[in-house]
Formats: sequence, C-alpha cells, structure tokens
Amino acid sequence: MAAPQMPTPDPNPEIKYTQIFINNEFVNSVSGKTFATINPATGDKICDVQEAEKADVDKAVVAARAAFQLGSPWRNMDASQRGRLLLKLAELIERDAAYLSSLETLDNGKPFIHSYFGAVLPSVKDLTYFAGWCDKITGKTIPVDGPYFTYTRLEPIGVCGGIIPWNFPINMFLSKMAPALATGNTVVIKPAEQTPLTALYLASLVKEAGFPPGVVNVLPGFGPTCGAHIAEHMDVDKVAFTGSTEVGKIIQAAAGQSNLKRVSLELGGKSPLIVFSDADLDTAVEQAHQSVFFNQGQVCCAGTRTFVQEGIYDDFVKRSVERAKKRTIGNPFDMRNEQGAQVDQEMFDKVMRLIETGKSQGAKLQHGGSRHGDKGFFIQPTVFSDVQDDMTIAKEEIFGPVMSIFKFKDINEVIDRANNTTYGLSAFVFTKDIDKALTIANSVQAGTVSVNCFHPTATQAPFGGFKQSGHGRELGEYGVHEYCEVKTVTVKLSHKM
Ligand code: NAD
Repeated sequence: MAAPQMPTPDPNPEIKYTQIFINNEFVNSVSGKTFATINPATGDKICDVQEAEKADVDKAVVAARAAFQLGSPWRNMDASQRGRLLLKLAELIERDAAYLSSLETLDNGKPFIHSYFGAVLPSVKDLTYFAGWCDKITGKTIPVDGPYFTYTRLEPIGVCGGIIPWNFPINMFLSKMAPALATGNTVVIKPAEQTPLTALYLASLVKEAGFPPGVVNVLPGFGPTCGAHIAEHMDVDKVAFTGSTEVGKIIQAAAGQSNLKRVSLELGGKSPLIVFSDADLDTAVEQAHQSVFFNQGQVCCAGTRTFVQEGIYDDFVKRSVERAKKRTIGNPFDMRNEQGAQVDQEMFDKVMRLIETGKSQGAKLQHGGSRHGDKGFFIQPTVFSDVQDDMTIAKEEIFGPVMSIFKFKDINEVIDRANNTTYGLSAFVFTKDIDKALTIANSVQAGTVSVNCFHPTATQAPFGGFKQSGHGRELGEYGVHEYCEVKTVTVKLSHKM
C-alpha cells in the first residue's frame, strides 16, 4: 500500500470549539469560568476554554445515563450500526487530518509530522479496528451440570468516565472512547487541561458522524475538580485513567469510596532497555535514542533506563551522544525538526530540576542539559552516562528528553536491576541470541516486551502495566473486555439434553 501523502501544516489553525460538549451541544460552563490553553512552542496563550467543574460533570453524567437507558436510540441500535458510526468517525478524522494534526501541534508542542503519523493516522486505525469488534463481541454456551442451558452475554458497563493526559491527546481520547462505544457504553471524557483543543474538535466530528446525543460528552477542566468528580461520581460505572501513578492511586481510592466503579489504570513507567554486547549496535543505538527522545521524552513506555553490557559500553555512549547531537529541535511546524517543545512550564521545570539532580548526584553529563532557545519550553536532548541505580534520575519518571545509560556485566544481574523498580510497563532487549532475548522477555516484570525494536504499542495488541504501572489493558481484544460486564444466564430445561 502506498504511504499516505504528508499534508501541509497550518501553523495558525482556526480554533473552532472552546466550549464543553454535552448531549451533542457545545455549552458554556455552569460557573462561567474559563481557563487559558498555551502554545508550548512560544509560551503564548492560544485561547480561553470553558472550564468544566462538578456541576458540569453532573450534567454530562445525566446526559450519558439518559443515552444509556434501555430503549434509547443507542441501546436499540444494532451492533453493526455502531460499527458503521465508528467507521464514519474514522472517515471524518481522515478528511480533517491536516487540520487535526495542526491543532494537536499547536496545543501540545509536538512536531507536526508526529501529530500526523503518530496521532491522527493511528487513531483512524484504532477506530477502524474497534468498529470491526462491534458485532463480534460474543458470549459462550457453558455445559453446566444438570438440566440447564447456560450461556453468557457480554454487556456494556454503562456510563464510562475517561480521564486522559496531555502527551498523546488524540490517541488517548480515541483509545478510551472507541472500545467503550464499540461495546455499547456511553462516555464522559476529560481531556488534560494543557491540551483540550483536539478533543473538542473530535467531539464536533462525533456529532457530525451521527452518534445520538449524550453518547459522547467532553469536559475540559482540571484534575482536582472535574477529574476528581468523575472518579467519585455515584452514577459513573467505570473510570479509565491514563497519567501519573500518584493520581492513579487517588482515582482508585475515589472509586472504592464511592460506588466501586470499575477502574482501569495506565500509569507511569521507568522501563529498562537492555543492550547485550552481541546486539546490532547501529539498530540498538537508533532504537534506544527513539525510545527515549520520541515525543520529547513524554512517553509512559519510554526506555528510560538504558542498560548496556560492559564490553560495548563506551562505544554505545559515544554513538548515542553523536546521535543526540544530530537531533533536530525547534519549531514543531518545521518538518525538519524531530523534537518540539515540552508541554508546559511545569513539565519544563520538572525536567530541568531532574537534570540538575543528575549532575549533582554524580552522573556524567555527556550532552545537552540546558534549555534550547529563549522562548517556549524546549529542552536540549540530554545524555547522561555512568548512571547508578540509586540516583534520582534512575528511579523517578523524568518525562523529558533525558537518556540515562547504565553499565551491566551479565544477564542475571541485569534482570535483577531491570526489575528493581516500582513500575512495570515496558521492557526492550537488543541481542542476536534468541535464548537471551526470551530469557529477558520471560523474566522482566512488564506488560509489553520488545525484542530488537522499540515497538510497545499496536492497535491489535494489549497494552498496560504490571506493578504500579497500573492494571487493566487497553487496545486489542483485552481492551474490548475492559468495557464489558459478563452476565451468566441459566435456563431450566425439562430434562438433561
Ligand atoms: P496527572 O496524572 O496529574 O494528569 C493526568 C490527568 O489526570 C489529567 O487529565 C489531569 O487533569 C487529571 N488529574 C489530575 N489530578 C487529578 C485528580 N485528583 N483526580 C482526577 N483527575 C486528576 O499528570 P501530570 O501532572 O500532567 O504529569 C505528571 C507526571 O505524570 C508526569 O511527569 C509523568 O511522569 C506522568 N504522566 C504519565 C503519563 C502516562 O502516559 N502514563 C501521562 C502524563 C503524565
């Protein structure tokens, strides 16, 4: 298949939607409050957006509940027709791919090329994939003892809350929404306060595609007000969250203290990337580089602990520094740039603080370590060598363009060190020896393992974490099941058949 043609970016996309989306209408907040969203590449305000709080969440949940009532257009709709609506939405996103990619870049600071190839096109795939599931979500017949006929039905859970982060605003919005709708639920989704604009535009496409009112509701707002009320709401049946482990714990506690709503959590990571001395070094250096620096390092499954076997350590460090020096950074609308801006001042400050910690605790700064340019939130690609396991940069999720390279001697040692973390999202191994690759794959505590590549996510395969990286899985068939309740139905027969 021919590769899609790259559209031309628009550095000043028109801002069409800034209001809360409830019942297929854009409305102002109950309080009348607004908040500013900022262009990370300049630090300038893009526009003000209506701020959803508790009262707006309540309105959205009422709408989502009404849309979920038995007998409603949504509940009466054939499953195949739900699939057609999701496909229609995919078509509209493809139609507006250039606009959506421009809006994503403006609001998030990531290079346009990544908004297009890394957000918009994969989201079309996600929708197409989940559209296909709609009429294939089946139960089982079960041979129970006695004169009974027993079968299971997979039913939608109900009103599903989604609380999403700012690092992949379009992908996160659709990877929460698509499986929820494929299985017949209704949704109330809060985009991150840093990046509300593409979610609001996608809401307009939901209406244009023909989804009934109330099926999708989008609430721009802040975590402790809007997000927290979704998590504690007595009439929300499930909450799916992606973000920090710290907030994930708050969400799970709120679910427990309210109505025991179902919870799925996709949280932080500090993933090991292990390079054995027999690896193809060119591949390992490039993939390790991409795994750390892609999306400005704002990736939950980034390979942020780069373990390199001692025989090739110095060479690997040298080549990684050369690669980092070549990394092009700046205006995200300029197609030549691989790296854009960090999402906001707060994240910029956090990353710079951790870089200082790395220096003061004795890691060797090989490259970068400072801001890039004099406006916006750009940080130089930064490489540390001689990183020790007890340093702060070895333990904390940096969420920025910072590579930390560790030295190891043998496989048992590296397995112990790889697992010596509270996280368990992803792991990567580079070697030509299949025994070593599979020993690592089977021994690391991680939800996804990539061998000789940086490839932690695919629409068709489950993604999620072990340990404090969360629970539940997104994407693939497992992702579908996260949005279903299993009902067992038993019918008495006149005799055993
Ligand atoms: P965060 O966890 O605070 O925010 C993620 C989402 O949760 C946002 O929509 C936010 O508004 C919401 N939220 C915040 N507090 C909430 C609360 N009390 N109740 C309900 N919702 C709430 O993440 P952040 O502050 O944007 O970033 C902090 C760190 O989190 C980052 O440095 C990074 O380490 C991590 N992070 C991880 C991911 C990921 O994909 N796993 C994404 C973003 C951030």
